[in-house]
Amino acid sequence: MSKKYCRFQSHGAATWGLVESDTVRIISGDLFADHELTDERVKLADTKLLPPVTPTKIVCVGLNYADHVKESQSANAVPEEPVTFMKPLTALIGPEETILMPAASKRVDYEGEIGIVIARTCHKLDPDEVRGNIFGITCVNDVTARDLQKKDVQWTRGKGFNTFCPVGPYLVTDLDYTELNVTSRLNGETRQSSNSRHMIFPIPRLVSFMCHVMTLNPGDLIVTGTPEGVGPMKDGDIVEVEVEGVGILRNHVRAE
Ligand code: MG
Repeated sequence: MSKKYCRFQSHGAATWGLVESDTVRIISGDLFADHELTDERVKLADTKLLPPVTPTKIVCVGLNYADHVKESQSANAVPEEPVTFMKPLTALIGPEETILMPAASKRVDYEGEIGIVIARTCHKLDPDEVRGNIFGITCVNDVTARDLQKKDVQWTRGKGFNTFCPVGPYLVTDLDYTELNVTSRLNGETRQSSNSRHMIFPIPRLVSFMCHVMTLNPGDLIVTGTPEGVGPMKDGDIVEVEVEGVGILRNHVRAE
């Protein structure tokens, strides 16, 4: 059965919780190590949600939907292997937090994506060994300074500003990630709408590919690429990324 986890601020500390309709049961300890489900409950509406991830790294995939490869000027053809890059942990923000558009960029885009959270240490797994090593799914906005991404040879600056990795609202287990809708909305208008079945490299292949490069640790976040429909945001916008079964990741946009 699918379980929905959140992370929230409680008495000044980040705390994991299990979401049960409109209440949250507090978890004592680290969700990815020793922990215990307590009988203590708080109202979901009273919690300040944090990103539901505590990764040691954020590994992302570019150009993983054919329709996005077509609209993008970063590539002329569908890649032969996954194109990977990383975001710094300082880019992480939670739901309802503010994406700050840096003055250095003239065009900051949203990219709605499915996020995968790793359950166990993974190293050199084959694709068919991946399934039991995935803890759950969340929503990610791979915010991108498009002009700087194009100007620089690699994407560290364009993808790495503070607040450029909104994640949440929940981390959900036991979803069928081969068949998940992913949608983005800007000020309530749908801009991206696709399904994980359209990925060029499916999730088991992505995780296998990455863990042949680097060891993936429990809690690490894998961001699986964006479909067609990326576009710029402006000061005052509200951007939403929705992954079926997870919920809606909503963020505000402000010029720095
Ligand atoms: Mg992306």
